[in-house]
Amino acid sequence: MSEKFENGTAPATGEGTAPILRVEHLKKYFPIKRNFFGRPVAFLRAVDDVSFQVEAGSAIGIVGESGCGKTTLGRTILRLYETDGGEIVFHGDNITKLKRKGMQKYRTEMQLIFQDPYSSLSPRMTVGAIIAEGVRAHHIVPREKVHDYVLEVMKKCGLQPQYYDRYPHEFSGGQRQRICIARALAVRPKLVVCDEPVSALDVSIQAQIINLLKELQTADGLTYLFISHDLSVVKYISDQIMVMYLGNVMELGGTEKIFEEPLHPYTQALFSAVPVPNPDVKMNRIILEGDIPSPANPPAGCKFHTRCSRCMNACRFLQPKYTEVGEGHFVACHLYDKEIAADAERIDAEYVEWLQGQIAAAKKFAQKEPHLKELERMRPDLYTKWLSDALLSGKRPLAGKKVRAHLFEELERMDAEEYARVKACENPAKGEEEDSDA
Ligand code: SF4
Repeated sequence: MSEKFENGTAPATGEGTAPILRVEHLKKYFPIKRNFFGRPVAFLRAVDDVSFQVEAGSAIGIVGESGCGKTTLGRTILRLYETDGGEIVFHGDNITKLKRKGMQKYRTEMQLIFQDPYSSLSPRMTVGAIIAEGVRAHHIVPREKVHDYVLEVMKKCGLQPQYYDRYPHEFSGGQRQRICIARALAVRPKLVVCDEPVSALDVSIQAQIINLLKELQTADGLTYLFISHDLSVVKYISDQIMVMYLGNVMELGGTEKIFEEPLHPYTQALFSAVPVPNPDVKMNRIILEGDIPSPANPPAGCKFHTRCSRCMNACRFLQPKYTEVGEGHFVACHLYDKEIAADAERIDAEYVEWLQGQIAAAKKFAQKEPHLKELERMRPDLYTKWLSDALLSGKRPLAGKKVRAHLFEELERMDAEEYARVKACENPAKGEEEDSDA
């Protein structure tokens, strides 16, 4: 089965069950540059058109490298950040535009467990007071029953009753994370966003906390949005996995399917790093070259194309659409897009046209800038380097030797005269360096 959806619109896996959370085309951009009048003119696209849904009582694992937008996504869903587009539907209610007062009703139902149990607990409050604070504020139980209720929650989370009057600094990291979990669960949430809840803990304590989260999920029917970069932990706790890169979803599907057969080249590289507990199995590690590009100036087309070993012409200028490659398994990659495969010739012709447009735009821009004109006259080698950079994406600095090689190849194909000039500029400079070395 192969079905295609607009980018970012992946329907839920397991049709027929009402989702507790539906996120559609969610965007969160942070302004990084403002003009004279204070209006933002450049943005960091932390979450860029993300869609998914989660069924009640299940867990979705969100994975990706640091800076891919996982944490921002979690916090935007909890409405700790204002959205810049898209919708968040919780329990059938659209909560995207709710103001502070309107959100109050949902605050107890959506909770967050932080990464760092050391800094997320007030050092001046006792454990009992920390857990009871939300219970009192949201009138979870009658005032006279708060003490007993807090003790009950503490017991459920593996905290002894004598800890009630102690302070957070008296506890180890694992115990503090249990206090954070107890605080979140005390207000009877339906959805818990776990933002790297075990990454600051020792491995042995990690297992205890993960087991506790699993037990609580079974007992209370909780839904988890589990953010982590530890794939083994995500595999253990999640029913679905969503792989993010530069604010976009690259692959989404059932945990087993994704671990057995990751399809997106980025997922394959990410999962190839998971150790296999079998000495006879040879690890086939895929090393990604280059750094993750800046989300403030992402590459055109597929955002992963600057690091993908299977990059094609289409990847450099067309954004991939979601393709359903199996039941509930979605991937955003041109390799699985039948239209792209069937129309390779037309795509290549369009790419050449697009590249010509990019070269023309870069040259036009260069001509408008007096300092660049001057640069061309004084240092044609640097000017050409800037022009090559500009071909990729605006004024982004050159990203790696491979990209540079590709640009020169393209330049030769598109504009032989310019290419000859570039080469002529490069070689004398090299020659000069060699002379000076000698
Ligand atoms: S769309 Fe192209 S560049 Fe992106 S992951 Fe697929 S093959 Fe690689």
